[in-house]
Amino acid sequence: MNAENTTDLPKATTYIFVTGGVVSSLGKGITAASMGLLLKKRGLTVKALKLDPYLNVDPGTMNPYQHGEVYVLDDGSETDLDLGHYERYLDQSMTRDNNVTSGQIYHTVISRERRGDYLGGTVQVVPHITEEIKNCIKRLERDESQVDVVIVEIGGTVGDIESLPFLEAIRQIGLECERSDTLYVHVTLVPYLAAAGEMKTKPTQHSVKALLSIGIQPDVLVCRTEKPLPDDIKKKIGLFCNVRGKAVISAVDVETIYEVPLYFRDQKFDDLVCESLGLPQSEPDIEDWREFVGNLKNYQHRVKIAICGKYVELKDAYKSIIEAFAHAGAANDARVDLIWVSSEDIKKNGAEKFLKDTDGLLIPGGFGERGVEGKIDSIRYVRENGIPFLGICLGMQCAVIEFARTVAAIEDAHSYEFYRDLKHPVIHLMADQENVADLGGTMRLGAYPAKLSKDSLALKAYGTQLISERHRHRYEFNNSYRDQLVNAGLKLTGVSPDDSLVEIVEVEDHPWFVGVQYHPELKSRPTRPHPLFRDFVAAAVRNSIKRKSGDASMAFKAENSEKTDNVESA
Ligand code: GLN
Repeated sequence: MNAENTTDLPKATTYIFVTGGVVSSLGKGITAASMGLLLKKRGLTVKALKLDPYLNVDPGTMNPYQHGEVYVLDDGSETDLDLGHYERYLDQSMTRDNNVTSGQIYHTVISRERRGDYLGGTVQVVPHITEEIKNCIKRLERDESQVDVVIVEIGGTVGDIESLPFLEAIRQIGLECERSDTLYVHVTLVPYLAAAGEMKTKPTQHSVKALLSIGIQPDVLVCRTEKPLPDDIKKKIGLFCNVRGKAVISAVDVETIYEVPLYFRDQKFDDLVCESLGLPQSEPDIEDWREFVGNLKNYQHRVKIAICGKYVELKDAYKSIIEAFAHAGAANDARVDLIWVSSEDIKKNGAEKFLKDTDGLLIPGGFGERGVEGKIDSIRYVRENGIPFLGICLGMQCAVIEFARTVAAIEDAHSYEFYRDLKHPVIHLMADQENVADLGGTMRLGAYPAKLSKDSLALKAYGTQLISERHRHRYEFNNSYRDQLVNAGLKLTGVSPDDSLVEIVEVEDHPWFVGVQYHPELKSRPTRPHPLFRDFVAAAVRNSIKRKSGDASMAFKAENSEKTDNVESA
């Protein structure tokens, strides 16, 4: 069999195509990831692919308001945030092959055309673009001896102009495969109209019609609803949409997105998938997942952690951070209430107003100068008041600036990202970034190793001296200030193996203060919380217990002044 020939599909691999209808944001990604989890937990090999219809080559150059978080993988690719769901639910690391955009497809086809590869032919959406889409789908099964299921999620909503080539490609794959090797799952909305006291099926019917007009008959309908679908509504939807009643699945709004797989399991959705695709029937072993969801919902402690950033109105910009807190909370028998604070409000009204009743502060990654001074003020407040702190990427850089200004008395310390004529650029441009002109895909991206120092909170958390974490930045700690800052008490507890880059900073005499140049949130998994998030939440729990039994910050200050007195008198 010629693997390059797009019409030859290895028999062993089956495909689940997930499309969406009626409105966006129905949770196609969570649906795909939940199905993947249930199949993987039956011992099947599952791969996932997100096809994004936009023309950007990747979301790396897009504003978070447009696209939400950019999810960076080990291999340095900047991908859609659904890849985060895939990694978290499937508990497996993705690569650049797991996210393909129209921009990439067109780029490949047009580059081929420029090279003359099409031998004078007219290059068209069908067949050239669609063939390339099929190649990207089939690429996933080529590198392993046995891939049982490839789940392909098509971004956008059926009816959009730009997703048409993707839908045409998946229609063709259905035609080229055995009928039982493909399953088309359509995620739709069944709204409840309070005035009529009814669930309305018409939008789903229209959406299925739109899909049929492109030649795709869905096999399964996953219906987002506020309440479970009654049997008569399921029957009605099945009848009008030409889908078997048991293949109409309710996707009710749940308390946490991690319940979705359990909810699907209760409806035997995975049994239906295996039966349709001719896969062996067995019970998925989801005990660890059930336990995790149980821990999420039942907790002994409640902590308040402030997140101070630029896009606080848009939670999708910080998706993985929110999820990492859920994982870390479950591991600490705690519920983490996130308090979103705009860094500009902190600058205007002072940090104390927003932070005095919190148990921890997290400053996330970010770009651009807006709100930076508020972040610096908030770091000073938590450092001086013994409130646990985790700084991520820009958050770590702000912690270095704050420490330089306040403790090391380098008054005008700042980052070269914001001002070019600085006297003290304690954060500066990385050497290999100096001549970079293009914005897309040119940062320090992906997994890099770091070694941790003894007697550090980092080593205590990770429990191992060599770690690997994902990066996405252009600026870094300026080594010219190493001695000055270390002498003032800053601890550089994680560095690149050749000692050239500072990856982690901590401060002395503080309950828990860690800044990292990388993005730990990208590697947190439900049943394997990230060690830094886990320990940060543990510190916040200790702080909240102290806070409730008296003034934690006063106690911290008193303890510290005692220490200083002792040092002075010694
Ligand atoms: N803007 C900073 C840099 O490029 C931080 C990036 C980030 O927080 N991801 O270095």
